[in-house]
Amino acid sequence: MHVTVLGSGGCTVIPKPLCKCRVCREAREKGAPYARTGPSIFVHDENLLIDAPAEIAWQLNRANIDRVDYLLFTHLDPDHVEGFRVVEQITLDFRTWEAYGGKTIRLLLPQVLKDRITDLKTIYGPLIDFYEQQGFVECIGFDGRTTIGQTEITAIPVDRGSQTAFVYIFEKKGKKIVYAPCDIKPFPEHRDEVKHPNILVIQPGIFEKGLKHGFRYPENHISRTTLYTFEETLALARRLKADQVLFVHMEEYWNRGYDDYRAIEKNLKNMRFAHDGMRITI
Ligand SMILES: [Zn+2]
Ligand SMILES: [Zn+2]
Repeated sequence: MHVTVLGSGGCTVIPKPLCKCRVCREAREKGAPYARTGPSIFVHDENLLIDAPAEIAWQLNRANIDRVDYLLFTHLDPDHVEGFRVVEQITLDFRTWEAYGGKTIRLLLPQVLKDRITDLKTIYGPLIDFYEQQGFVECIGFDGRTTIGQTEITAIPVDRGSQTAFVYIFEKKGKKIVYAPCDIKPFPEHRDEVKHPNILVIQPGIFEKGLKHGFRYPENHISRTTLYTFEETLALARRLKADQVLFVHMEEYWNRGYDDYRAIEKNLKNMRFAHDGMRITI
């Protein structure tokens, strides 16, 4: 399988607008891999886009993607869906305001997300209603498992009340990618599907030290309900027996630049921090 990390950042881009911190200044000066845009990956085998952050149109151009057949959302939080309108930008025939023939993107949605996607609205109503009417997307609900082309997709919910996020497993010809970029606690590690992946793509979680402003997370901080600590994530990855681990969704407030992550990697076996535009083949 061939994957491109379109965006390796988290809920704020790096450089964060207006920010003068060391990490942002360096990113502004040097660009990628120091700069990071919102969380998104592309699975080339099936022309499958996963998540649409605000920068998605630009990310697709940067990565020279020339076709999107499928779109999948891990969850409906703004940092993953702000760029949903890219489906209109990709497919729109301005003469009819409908999609060009053959350009309709199949939007794959686990049932829980299909029930909630109408909550994404503009002043005219739910985005999905307009996108479906105009043929920009075709909504395809599924429960648990679906197949596209030669790739099998398993969706496992991370149950956090009304904000369900999904961990996705992509399998093709005996190879397996587990994709868990955001809001992954409690991680469904009881499920066999997440074990022994060739590559686990996961967010590193909370760094306890070295954060901006010298901040230390109190024991009862809200972020601890959705995020593991970095040490807990390392332990989780080892329990899952991932051949390789790729960290994504890097946050600006973690106060670490590309070189800092490279230094951390040196002490970790088969674990890397992603950067924008990174290509992975398994
Ligand atoms: Zn900054
Ligand atoms: Zn996120």
